[in-house]
Amino acid sequence: MTDLLSYTISRFQEHFDEAPEKAAYAPGRVEILGNHTDYNGGYVMSAAIDKGTVLVGSLDEFDQISLLATDLNRNAEFNVNLFERDARSTWANYVLGVVQQLQRSDINVRGFKAAIHSIIPLGAGLSSSAALEVASAYLLKQLFPFELSKMDVALLCQRAENQFVGVSSGLLDQFSSVFGAPNHLMFLDCRTLENAQLRLPREDLSLVICDSLAKHSLVGGEYNTRRAECMAASAFFGKELLRDVTIDEFNARKSELPDNQRKRAQHVIEENERVLQARQALVAGDAKLLGELMTASHQSSRYLFENSVPELDFLVDTARELPGCLGARLTGGGWGGATINLVEDAFVDQFSAALSEKYFEHSGRRAPVFVSTISDGAHFVSVK
Ligand code: ADP
Ligand code: MG
Repeated sequence: MTDLLSYTISRFQEHFDEAPEKAAYAPGRVEILGNHTDYNGGYVMSAAIDKGTVLVGSLDEFDQISLLATDLNRNAEFNVNLFERDARSTWANYVLGVVQQLQRSDINVRGFKAAIHSIIPLGAGLSSSAALEVASAYLLKQLFPFELSKMDVALLCQRAENQFVGVSSGLLDQFSSVFGAPNHLMFLDCRTLENAQLRLPREDLSLVICDSLAKHSLVGGEYNTRRAECMAASAFFGKELLRDVTIDEFNARKSELPDNQRKRAQHVIEENERVLQARQALVAGDAKLLGELMTASHQSSRYLFENSVPELDFLVDTARELPGCLGARLTGGGWGGATINLVEDAFVDQFSAALSEKYFEHSGRRAPVFVSTISDGAHFVSVK
């Protein structure tokens, strides 16, 4: 944190020729369980990672918003009373969207200057976008004090991404970035917003994230097809969302469903159940069961939801055989992207090296492996 902060402060000073008054930090996140459950009104479990985004800033007396993106070496200026979505500086929209939402909540945001710096890889599924929005909100809260609950901040940042940036993301990303806590997993009911921070039974566990580097071109189309299949299946049961279909209801009539709808629905209904079981496992102090549920989730993605790809299957199958691994699964939408592994600290180095090596032998690609402790959510940072 000290390095991250001092780097951002020095870039701010260099660019604006003054020292920043305030600073804020927000982390990226990883989905631990709850695959494609969010838009079905279901449950998710996530964790904040130890990589995040820092914003430092100060007030501007001329009603101008001046932003410096140190990672992109870009800057942009806007009038706080009159700005629009910027097609050239798309990165700035994540900050402007938060400003707009605060203004719509009758919070008097005036001009300010800010420098942004992040160690989350951008666009890697670790939610650098939510970290940027949430860190912006936490910086602005110090510059233009306002009273909003943590959940309201998460919801406001989600609206910024949905309405201003134009990406229809669920609440998970912003929720996780706000509510993260060291050694805790976060549970979220996507319909009621009921949530909880659940302590991991053991403190000697790390998350190992492995980017398969596989990118499949069909993602958009497949995603929409899955979503439509889920909605059709819930309609078949006369329910608004699959969240409302119980396993018993499903089993009683599943043979009447078309094959694909049956498989997608089974995945979502059982995945919701797995998230609830994981919540109980955490309360009961059972890290082993949590790992098993993660691995079961992957098998379900592989055979029922069919959003895995051979690269992800290889990484998961390999990880399961390595010492110290409690569970492994794909994380996020699927059809490429990353796997998440729950690994005992004592084995993390050995595990990461072996996974990377075996993947290289198999695919000829060096997959980036990130090790993360389960970390704190967004907070203010002292610039002194
Ligand atoms: P993810 O959230 O998985 O990282 P997204 O595509 O949702 O991927 O968000 C990535 C985008 O967010 C970037 O392309 C950029 O526009 C913006 N962004 C995130 N972090 C930063 C940053 N540190 N500086 C500038 N822009 C950022
Ligand atoms: Mg994002």
